[in-house]
Amino acid sequence: MHDKDQAFATKAVHAGTEPEPITGAIMTPVFMTSTYVQKAPAEHTGYEYSRTGNPTRRALAKALAALENADHGLCFASGMSATDTVLRTLKSGDHVIAGNDLYGGTYRLFTKVYQRFGLTFSFVDCTDLEALENAFQDNTKLLWLESPTNPLLRITDIKAAAALAKKRDVLLAVDNTFATPALQQPLDLGADIVVHSTTKYLGGHSDVVGGAVLTRSQKIFDELAYLQNAVGAVPGPMDCFLVLRGLKTLSLRMERHCANAKRVATFLAEHPKVDRVYYPGLESHPNHEIAAKQMNDFGGMVSFELKGTVEQGKVFCTKTKLFQLAESLGGVESLIEHPPTMTHGAIEPEVRRAAGLADGLIRLSVGVEDCDDLIADLTAAFEACFA
Ligand SMILES: *Cc1c(COP(=O)(O)O)cnc(C)c1O
Repeated sequence: MHDKDQAFATKAVHAGTEPEPITGAIMTPVFMTSTYVQKAPAEHTGYEYSRTGNPTRRALAKALAALENADHGLCFASGMSATDTVLRTLKSGDHVIAGNDLYGGTYRLFTKVYQRFGLTFSFVDCTDLEALENAFQDNTKLLWLESPTNPLLRITDIKAAAALAKKRDVLLAVDNTFATPALQQPLDLGADIVVHSTTKYLGGHSDVVGGAVLTRSQKIFDELAYLQNAVGAVPGPMDCFLVLRGLKTLSLRMERHCANAKRVATFLAEHPKVDRVYYPGLESHPNHEIAAKQMNDFGGMVSFELKGTVEQGKVFCTKTKLFQLAESLGGVESLIEHPPTMTHGAIEPEVRRAAGLADGLIRLSVGVEDCDDLIADLTAAFEACFA
């Protein structure tokens, strides 16, 4: 059976992993080595030095490429270094369009680092295709999308955005961290580049920081591989092993994340102390229709606004017990956070509010625990917060 014909859950277990040739070890070994012995000068096995290449890292890159229906993959030391390397393909004077509801660290990298090097950025609501179309300039080189966005879980029609970009020879990069390839495959929708923070669902166990870039283009891959070797933001082999192990249960975990999140979102939507719930799986979500079209399911992230004051929002985050107060997302355990003061603290308050990010917003990363326990935990927090 050709790998490409396999279902996602099968690929998640097997892609990129071959029995190790010497011992038959079923798990890819952790190749803890910086260099590789050569038979004669420049006569080597394909590995020369571990910044350039490492077998554990290569196995992970192959697995991720298979899951995203890509032909090439590169693994990075973090999601941010993956993003950084894509940005390094640009030059001073180039223009980038990005969503206005971005991961806080991505917004910081664009505005605080790359603006200094002469790149310019327009941040637009990419769910509004007319606004997106109007944002293109003669010097636009890259369109950077997140869908679902973080933390408002807005959905952009990736196919339509890809068509707008293609018409102008602009590359489309999609940060697929929130959806994961289990729910959405942006390259199939016309994207040129997929970026991941493997720290989140792909690793899945809150025990590693990593990133990846996937593409079908040999040209883009060659350029990024050159930059990765030149700049050096590579992950260690143990980190790659952990992500590779996480991938094997990605399909299973996403099923439970999605089922739990849907129940939690429905519970919150019916709760008298909640003003608004942001979850693309709810029919009330403004982008529900396009989410249902381009995603297999709606993900494990839920955001909501509490009725009451900003202070009550912050108090609520300290009253849950199973939902632990922490940044990050996508691990097996449920997390709760307050984006305005935590993950999105790097965004100026005016910019944040203009993008629709209310001061009292709470974001949940719904884990894979028993959902009755999760709902009991939230119920107790409402009681403690509004006592
Ligand atoms: C976490 C995250 C990143 C950054 O990844 P790191 O691994 O923390 O560097 C980028 N994009 C999204 C959507 C994220 O959630």
